Amino acid sequence: MSTAPDYKIPFTTFYNVINNELTDTVTTRRTVCPSTEEPLWESPVSDEEDVNRAVSAASQAFQSWRKLSQDVRAEYLIKFADAIEANQQDFINLLGKEAGKPPQAAAFEMYLVMGIARETPKLRLKEDKPIDDTERTAIVRYVPLGVGVGIVPWNFPLTLGIGKLLPALLAGNTFIWKPSPYTPYSALKLAEIGTKIFPPGVFQALSGEDTLGPLLTAHPGVAKISFTGSVETGKKVMAACASTLKRVTLELGGNDAAIICDDVDIDSVVAKVAFLAFVHSGQICMNIKRIYVHESIYDSFLTAVVATTKQFKTGGYTDSEAFFGPIQNRMQYEKLQKFYSQISRESWKTALGGEPSPSPKQENGFFMPPTIIDNPPEDSSIVVDEPFGPIVPVLKWTDEEDVIKRANASRLGLGASVWSKDVPRAQRMAEQLEAGSIWVNTHFELAPNVPFGGHKESGLGMDWGQVGLEGWCNPQAYWVKHSG
Ligand code: NAD
Repeated sequence: MSTAPDYKIPFTTFYNVINNELTDTVTTRRTVCPSTEEPLWESPVSDEEDVNRAVSAASQAFQSWRKLSQDVRAEYLIKFADAIEANQQDFINLLGKEAGKPPQAAAFEMYLVMGIARETPKLRLKEDKPIDDTERTAIVRYVPLGVGVGIVPWNFPLTLGIGKLLPALLAGNTFIWKPSPYTPYSALKLAEIGTKIFPPGVFQALSGEDTLGPLLTAHPGVAKISFTGSVETGKKVMAACASTLKRVTLELGGNDAAIICDDVDIDSVVAKVAFLAFVHSGQICMNIKRIYVHESIYDSFLTAVVATTKQFKTGGYTDSEAFFGPIQNRMQYEKLQKFYSQISRESWKTALGGEPSPSPKQENGFFMPPTIIDNPPEDSSIVVDEPFGPIVPVLKWTDEEDVIKRANASRLGLGASVWSKDVPRAQRMAEQLEAGSIWVNTHFELAPNVPFGGHKESGLGMDWGQVGLEGWCNPQAYWVKHSG
């Protein structure tokens, strides 16, 4: 009688995974829980030697992994999904502590992770035959690159990494995951689970300080860097990759506009827009970050969005009713303090929230007050820059052409949406928006088999879906003459 494999692992110790071995480093570090500021567990600090060992194991593993069929590689991925699912509750608890996610938010991240884990193995690279006649055949096919590296930020420590890992492996590459120094733990656990599924060297994880990323982007044995993070770091990654002509995918910042037309059902649209602006306390690349409301409904919309946002509860990782969690780390918390301090300096009008009191905090945790700015000037930093926190401007518009111009004025172009009962009108407007994802009557709508990525300075290339899978390959032109 066969028994189900035991995929459960302990969630109390955290190691690098190199060549399927749990590996110590000479020095270790701890991050803090964003809800309590208590130190969490020791985690590795990888150095050049660790990088060299991982790249060498990944290069060796690539030779046999690339030879497996896509179907066989997909079977590994399906087993991996089962193994992640067996540890799902532990991941939810861990994301609560390391990423500052209240249980609902941590469960939402695991829902996204499982969606990617279940759907990605269904994708396949396809061949195209632009020429196929009696004399010759020309095939365009996709071949894997080699050793891939995923560099991941702290806001969705698992989702944003697994959306790189699985297509990379399915396409026949091997993969090294570098988590953010602020959230190293969940990725290390995922790689530990991987040791139960994959051959050595296929999936590895290295954790460390911000000095680790440059070691990986410079390494001549790495074929591709898939990076998610800030625009500033993305530019450094691209520059570093130029010296070895590594392939790069960049998923960078966003400053998404939502354009609300005069004919919407205010209550139902406000409920959705408030959620999409503030979910994960505004720390999502695709949060709505500028809300443009038609002037004829502006006052009622603003009143309703304030009332809805007030109902969202704030709490830490144990609070099952909390919607707003803390800011994930002190660096981002301090950046936001500077942002909020402009409210009085720039005389922005607040409809909700405002600057936190300058006196020392009474409670622990990196919490910031949910804040709505009422119609600030179009050139103010709250409109122009990405705050990455629970603060959002609501702005008035009157003319369709003008609001599209204002939405497109950003150097960023990640996502943008138009909301109207008149769907053809909304589509006509949406199709003029300069962004990697455009939506009508929704925002931040994603699926593992649909690609996402940014235009302009929001990125280069796309993750997920067929486009994401092909991004882990070199296209190859393959000519066959039928007479020898
Ligand atoms: P960040 O750029 O500071 O760090 C991202 C990752 O890069 C981390 O793992 C970090 O250790 C690493 N890193 C730092 N310096 C490096 C270097 N010189 N070379 C290589 N790697 C280096 O970003 P963050 O603060 O972790 O994340 C927040 C930002 O990410 C926001 O701007 C947000 O909009 C963006 N983001 C984008 C997406 C997207 O899909 N477009 C998703 C989530 C977050």
